[in-house]
Amino acid sequence: MQFVSRDQWGANAPKSDYTYIDSTQGVKVHYEGTEVPADLMGADHHGRCAGRMRDLQASHQANQAEGYIDIAYSAVVCPHGYVFEGRGAHHLQAANGPGLNRQHYSVCAMVGDSGLTQPTDAQLNGVRDAIEWLRSAGDAGDEIRGHRDGYATDCPGEPLYAWVQAGAPRPGGSAPAPAPAPAPAFPAWPGRYLRNYTEGGDVQTIQRRLSERGWTITVDGKYGPQSERIVREFQADKELEQDGVVGPVTWAAAWTTPIT
Ligand SMILES: [Zn+2]
Ligand SMILES: [Zn+2]
Repeated sequence: MQFVSRDQWGANAPKSDYTYIDSTQGVKVHYEGTEVPADLMGADHHGRCAGRMRDLQASHQANQAEGYIDIAYSAVVCPHGYVFEGRGAHHLQAANGPGLNRQHYSVCAMVGDSGLTQPTDAQLNGVRDAIEWLRSAGDAGDEIRGHRDGYATDCPGEPLYAWVQAGAPRPGGSAPAPAPAPAPAFPAWPGRYLRNYTEGGDVQTIQRRLSERGWTITVDGKYGPQSERIVREFQADKELEQDGVVGPVTWAAAWTTPIT
């Protein structure tokens, strides 16, 4: 499983404590439902996915009517097959509908009702990965259902719902499941924002990483104007916010995005 922790995608803290749950009957599958840009699935566009997560979390946390404390889902899966941690295992989620949230966890695919409407094979594998993760880490039962099971909604859309009804098979039919890939190994974000005038081993680490990725950057542990310029260029390349500062998202992108 290619797992992206909350720290790695730059999640805000929940607005209040989660409700602990021991186990569930299983997992319900969702889609975003609104338009998802068709080109999000492009191999070079994974750099946008963490930003989509932050937007999704912000919109849920701002939703006064629902009173969400956090992103509603247990996990979200991008078209590149990465599993983004939502509320996670053993936490009550809030996506399945009133009275239905304790029975199942929720996994949302970044698929819409226009634009990107068909899940990619990598994404179906990722949804499967997320379900298996919630079974092993969160004591989810065997059921795999759609949001529309028990609640009046189109979610998760026809293609995903047909897949759910088929038992959520990994693409490729009876082929053995690919061995779970270890989460990308990269050093943890140092916990401080690296910007102009910052110095230290952590500055050297990001400089070395960008240099390994082909950027012309001096690896001297001193965050000067050149580092700032190269970080801006890297952020532009990955369609991240171009602030020239290395926060958790830019840091993670230096290890997790494809080298182009
Ligand atoms: Zn849904
Ligand atoms: Zn992605």
